[in-house]
Amino acid sequence: MLGLMQNQPLLISSLIDFAARHHGDGEIVSRRVEGDLHRYTWRDVARRAKQVANRLDAMGLLFSDRVATLAWNGYRHLELYFGVSGSGRVLHTINPRLHPDQVAWIANHAEDQVLCFDMSFLPLVQAIHGRATTIRQYVALCDADKLPADTGIPNLVSYETWLAGQPTSYEWPSFDENSASSMCYTSGTTGNPKAALYSHRSTILHAYAAALPDVMGISARDAILPVVPMFHVNAWGIPYSAALTGAKLVFPGPSLDGKSVYELIESEKVTYAAGVPTVWQMLLSHMKPGGLRFSTLTRTVIGGAACPPAMMHAFRDEYGVEVLHAWGMTEMSPLGTLCTLKNKHLEMSEDEQMKVRLKQGRAIYAIDMKIVGDDGQELPWDGQATGDLLVKGPWVIREYFKGEGGNPLVDGWFPTGDVASIDADGYMQITDRSKDVIKSGGEWISSIDVENIAMGHPAVAMAACVGMRHPKWDERPIVVVVKKPGAEVTREELLKFYEGKTAKWQIPDDVVFVEAIPLGATGKMLKTRLREQLKDYKLP
Ligand code: ADP
Repeated sequence: MLGLMQNQPLLISSLIDFAARHHGDGEIVSRRVEGDLHRYTWRDVARRAKQVANRLDAMGLLFSDRVATLAWNGYRHLELYFGVSGSGRVLHTINPRLHPDQVAWIANHAEDQVLCFDMSFLPLVQAIHGRATTIRQYVALCDADKLPADTGIPNLVSYETWLAGQPTSYEWPSFDENSASSMCYTSGTTGNPKAALYSHRSTILHAYAAALPDVMGISARDAILPVVPMFHVNAWGIPYSAALTGAKLVFPGPSLDGKSVYELIESEKVTYAAGVPTVWQMLLSHMKPGGLRFSTLTRTVIGGAACPPAMMHAFRDEYGVEVLHAWGMTEMSPLGTLCTLKNKHLEMSEDEQMKVRLKQGRAIYAIDMKIVGDDGQELPWDGQATGDLLVKGPWVIREYFKGEGGNPLVDGWFPTGDVASIDADGYMQITDRSKDVIKSGGEWISSIDVENIAMGHPAVAMAACVGMRHPKWDERPIVVVVKKPGAEVTREELLKFYEGKTAKWQIPDDVVFVEAIPLGATGKMLKTRLREQLKDYKLP
């Protein structure tokens, strides 16, 4: 016997309809590329998202066609979030920090039809448009009078011209909630970037879960500043959870320095902010010398990399701001665990509570996790045993877009590439990483790419790239090199060799020459052993 309740597919269009109807005057404030502040309401977002949908229909874009963005956090990007997915197309957010070669490769792989970009990324688009074979419309996210005449980019219009005259009403289509809604490429593992393809259902369930009090705790009374970019796993789903609750959204645009972020928090009465440790480091460094205080901020979610204890202490002890430590992955939409206390912890001393808060947290409902040893057997939840962390749940990927990389699951579980312990209360703590990547300022650097470039130098016999702890960027890559017999290359020559071959921030900070790199039985480089050998090494 089936239940007799109404069967409505969980669609992203319902979020914006809800926000417009029930929180129509709720504010969205954006720092624009031009530097000024733009402000309007959820009702306006809905109206303009519908213009986007009408425009895509008029272009003849089909169901599931991809519309890409290269954009900061801002109101036009938000309109695309709802207009593109709501009308049945797939929003493809591209990371503008990637090298132009990677951006072109990703756009072609996704078969993007339209590319909408902020003017900051005009040079990037100029560098790739000749190689992007599927894009038929370029849209600059600016006013008509801000678009230069001679960009060299074909079929380029300003966003405002593109939308002009489109009706502000639109009947959102109804379709299977398992249809694709958005996608995000990750270079987290070996080989070419692979895309997580989110569905309407996974996005809505994730948005619901994220808003829970024990997760991000988002409500209509919040003013949220997502510093985490909308091009990186949908800003951790905050745009959707904000629409679901009617929270005010405050977007920093391209201005992510400590001063700009602080001023925005104060002027817009932000209660809640989210970002990677690097941006909070910049914020705290700006505030400390002048003795600045927060007047409204009470909570901040920190994730994407481990939150340093000193940062958590500074927020709590000096500014009275609660830090919620979060862990997740692009492949997980991204939230997996959040660190909020249980009832039993409330009796503990602040120091004892801090020990709990520094862990990555406990699983959100619908996410299951386990740790396994080298033999694949599950390990106990005793806070001691560490093993590979696997997850499953309705917002975890089943496979990558176009089946890239084959079946990523092990008996139905997704291996995260993180190594962790789980304690008896279910709090997970990351202790290491088994995947071969470096995370700098919240963004990936593929160690394989760094090694391959070094190996392209005629004097290099072997190269190993490893991540080193860095106070600002969490991790920075260095490359450890064995020279060919009789060959010569200096540190400076090799670093110069990287220029133009990869994005600047992905160039290693240092070159360390060694006689040999430790190898395992199968000839693979033993990075764990190499890291041990480098334990006294200091970054320049
Ligand atoms: P995101 O940066 O949004 O979490 P990514 O897919 O770019 O998503 O990165 C996921 C990886 O980042 C994780 O597998 C883990 O290695 C690392 N990571 C994320 N959050 C944390 C955290 N709180 N502590 C330690 N590492 C983290």
